[in-house]
Amino acid sequence: MATALDPVIVDWLKLFNSSSCEELYSKLEQIHSEHKPVEGEHVRFSLQDIKHLSTSDKRGTILLDVTFYWSANKAAELIKDLRKNPPKKSFENPVVHRCSSVAEYATMNSLIPDVDLPGSKYNFVGQGYYSDIFFHMFFGNYSDFIEHIKKLSEQDLKKTLNTREGYPQFSPLFAPIIGRRMIHIERMSWLTEQNKRDIRMMYNGSNENKQVKILEKLLKLGADPNAHDIIGNTPLFYAAYIRYDDAEKIVSTLLRYGANPNHSIQYGSILRLFCNFLATLPEYWNIIDLLLSYNAKPKDYEEAIRIRYEMETKFPLEYAVKLREVCTKKKNECERTLCEVSTVKKCGACNFVVYCTPACQKLDWKFHKPTCKKKREEKSLENSA
Ligand SMILES: [Zn+2]
Ligand SMILES: [Zn+2]
Repeated sequence: MATALDPVIVDWLKLFNSSSCEELYSKLEQIHSEHKPVEGEHVRFSLQDIKHLSTSDKRGTILLDVTFYWSANKAAELIKDLRKNPPKKSFENPVVHRCSSVAEYATMNSLIPDVDLPGSKYNFVGQGYYSDIFFHMFFGNYSDFIEHIKKLSEQDLKKTLNTREGYPQFSPLFAPIIGRRMIHIERMSWLTEQNKRDIRMMYNGSNENKQVKILEKLLKLGADPNAHDIIGNTPLFYAAYIRYDDAEKIVSTLLRYGANPNHSIQYGSILRLFCNFLATLPEYWNIIDLLLSYNAKPKDYEEAIRIRYEMETKFPLEYAVKLREVCTKKKNECERTLCEVSTVKKCGACNFVVYCTPACQKLDWKFHKPTCKKKREEKSLENSA
């Protein structure tokens, strides 16, 4: 009987449309020789490494490389297909392309803004399937943008705000958010100096870099902050994905104009996405407070536990405590994040949470202490009232 496969491998077999590790490996070798998404003459690991993924000392490398292989292959496929069937304009939310696994969704997220827009890893000048106004917004040229919309009738302005274009079927709001990468073109290590010159030529190198101002103007004019693209992601999603110094400003502007922090995405939630992405970036932690102040929540219980764990291991205590308020455990389940024991034994001090054993309570005390104190104070206030 075959031994159970690592769930990651099961995902990959689906992703690469393969029925065995052998078939998967030969596809990886083929992609390597065609696209060279990773340095070197050959794939950096062996078939045996894949078969024994969980114990392989190359696990980290393999996980990363396979993502690069899939992206490069998928990008090439999409670009070829787009040349034959250029994307059409539309004026409403597109039908969402459902990804078959978390792995596919995660890779599509980075691919979507990359297949047909300037600055792309795969297609550096893009494919030119976008309108002039989309490019004004993408490059942050506020004067051109204003010039353009000034000429529109009320009806045409409305139509423009609802336009969907390019392969991802982006609405105007996506343009300044994703286009912020053009401000930082020097950081794009995959572009050669010639690539950069070619991209600059598209705007004579005189971009105003006013993407944030354009974003705010679009929202003021009535652009839908919850428009979604072909994989169901909203502008807020890309604000998490594409981070620069102005990230907090982008997120707060979107939220202020009604972006839904609990918009349903294919896997996970916007809150978890930010928590994951920002773990090592303390300069952006204010964004988490911002999302919480707009009632951002985990999608389900499983996700709540993951966020709690993430907070307890990677963030300062303050955040672990704060996130517990929206990531509550099931009724009568031990309060320690990873414990699944059912119990009715309450914390004697606050009577608010339960612990299966004194050992669990001790392990969890660091995280519960501030809440415990708060609950005791609330109770004494009630009693004295
Ligand atoms: Zn316990
Ligand atoms: Zn307590």
